[in-house]
Amino acid sequence: MMVHEKIAKDAFKPDRESHIKIDHNICKEKCKIKYCLFVCPGHLYSFNEELNEICVEFAGCLECGTCKIACIEGAIDWSYPRGEYGVQYRYG
Ligand code: SF4
Repeated sequence: MMVHEKIAKDAFKPDRESHIKIDHNICKEKCKIKYCLFVCPGHLYSFNEELNEICVEFAGCLECGTCKIACIEGAIDWSYPRGEYGVQYRYG
């Protein structure tokens, strides 16, 4: 089974408030490479041309923590979603 087929089986219960916060000042002023756009296995980060800033679709987060580590400028404040919220992995 391919990875995307396994991920498609997971269920998500999104909280109203994002568990991922982006410091847009750091992002705009310091970060040139924007690793978050490339490392997220869920492809949840994008650059919003209208807002001229990075956005994240937190509801589909797989809770791997990769984006927090990859953001070498420290612009991403990431924590686990509150209890009962977030991804529910399903096997089989
Ligand atoms: Fe993507 Fe993982 Fe960051 Fe969630 S924790 S936004 S899945 S890189």
